[in-house]
Amino acid sequence: MNSKYVFVSGGVASSLGKGIISASLAKLLQARGLRVTIQKFDPYINVDPGTLNPYEHGECYVTEDGAETDLDLGHYERFLGVHTSKANNVTTGKIYNTVISKEREGAYLGKTVQIVPHITDEIKRRMMLLGKSGDYDVVITEIGGTVGDMESQPFVEAVRQLQWELPEEDCVTIHLTLVPYLSAAKELKTKPTQHSVQMLQSSGVQPDIIVCRTEHPLTPELRRKVALFCNVKPGHVIQSIDAPSIYSVPLTMKEEKLDQLVLDHFGLKGLPEPDLREWNMFLDKLFNPKRTVDIALVGKYVELQDAYKSILESFVHAGAANECKVNVHSIHSEFLDQANVGEKLGDMDAILVAPGFGERGLEGKVVAIRYAREHNVPFFGICLGMQMCVVEFARNVLGLKDAISTEVNPSTANPVIDLMEDQKSTTIKGGTMRLGAYKCRLEKDSLAYRIYGSELISERHRHRYEFNNDYLQMIEEAGMKASGKNPDTGLVEIVEIPGHPFFIGAQFHPELKSTPERPQPIFVAFVKAAMEYNAKK
Ligand code: GLN
Repeated sequence: MNSKYVFVSGGVASSLGKGIISASLAKLLQARGLRVTIQKFDPYINVDPGTLNPYEHGECYVTEDGAETDLDLGHYERFLGVHTSKANNVTTGKIYNTVISKEREGAYLGKTVQIVPHITDEIKRRMMLLGKSGDYDVVITEIGGTVGDMESQPFVEAVRQLQWELPEEDCVTIHLTLVPYLSAAKELKTKPTQHSVQMLQSSGVQPDIIVCRTEHPLTPELRRKVALFCNVKPGHVIQSIDAPSIYSVPLTMKEEKLDQLVLDHFGLKGLPEPDLREWNMFLDKLFNPKRTVDIALVGKYVELQDAYKSILESFVHAGAANECKVNVHSIHSEFLDQANVGEKLGDMDAILVAPGFGERGLEGKVVAIRYAREHNVPFFGICLGMQMCVVEFARNVLGLKDAISTEVNPSTANPVIDLMEDQKSTTIKGGTMRLGAYKCRLEKDSLAYRIYGSELISERHRHRYEFNNDYLQMIEEAGMKASGKNPDTGLVEIVEIPGHPFFIGAQFHPELKSTPERPQPIFVAFVKAAMEYNAKK
């Protein structure tokens, strides 16, 4: 069978949840036995989101093979439980980079290099790449941005050409729009959807299916109206009504028969109904918690929910695994100090200190860690959060008052966290951190080993600085243990304090591999520790 292609575009407004709709469709097709992947095409000129401030674009998600990608790839992995790769996130910057390099090599043989055909050809090549690998039956491509934006125009043009080039039964286009409710008129309004589809049609793309985001159910009349004015078949207008959780959306899309419409278009008959048993078990636990805990998320990007997306989702998964509702309290590390820490963290059942870069809010993180260590509050530090565990311990237990990371003070007398050797010669910022999956060997007699239940693990990374092994002996003798190390380089990946009920810091990002069906072990154990702490209060 040829690979089948689904293209998902969005109109009217951004943030309608194209990523979740794409992931939900993918989940339903996968649950019927198909091999499915999802890729995202982003219209911005950055080569990848690695150089973007989280305030601009939310979290930067990292794949196994070390690509810095859009956070939607996190949703794809969480829904499908399969890894994405460098090929799954393409930006305008990547496309132009390739085309301009080829032009410099002379590959265009004297031709004028143009958006059509050169840029669109490169977009199409990348749109087909995963399908051509033979690894997937269905490739879903999400087009970032909103139809009508100047910058997404070449992507829409590439979809138009593919719709024309591919056999009709191999290509489906879905357009996601908003049907707003006007409370003054007490009416749902379809005009923005009509305009958005007209915009798409004026670029030559006729959607096959229209998914309408709405806060109220669409009546059959309304669906017919959208179908008529947007030139799609009746029955091909479906609603995506606000759901209690993003993880419920596969079920609401199943009710709306989105997967069936797509399969009918592809002419794929005789597939079993989606097997969602494990998914439903997760949802059942998610919606029926027996307990509640309050966990502080201490970071500096707390104003923006998307900045810590994977961490927040990991708490959803780990909460369900423990049949416990996790209330995550965002605490701004910039405004945390020794005088107010008790008041801000005193009611918490556990404290997580988040990853990050740079000096702002750093000292607040150290204060939070000290509070957790001294008050025996379950603690989990991730990446910069782990590095600050080492700083806090060096300062307040070893008495090295000026201990800090050289990221903040390159000339400190006690660089307990220092730039990794291979980073010292790096001047370029994009794509040059220690990125992607690395192995880690755990000490048998450790909290980490008890959590993972195996000696060799693999987790994903994104950092330039590391635990300075010159301080390892001194720190271990004072009671903090390096319980996980890279087997090849000896780089410290996990620290913990055996005398504390639950204190762990990870140089890697465990949140990137948590899924509803495979919750991440440290998060599961951390929530459990929070429950135990809460029970003793
Ligand atoms: N800024 C730190 C480093 O580069 C930590 C990075 C992170 O938290 N992702 O090592």
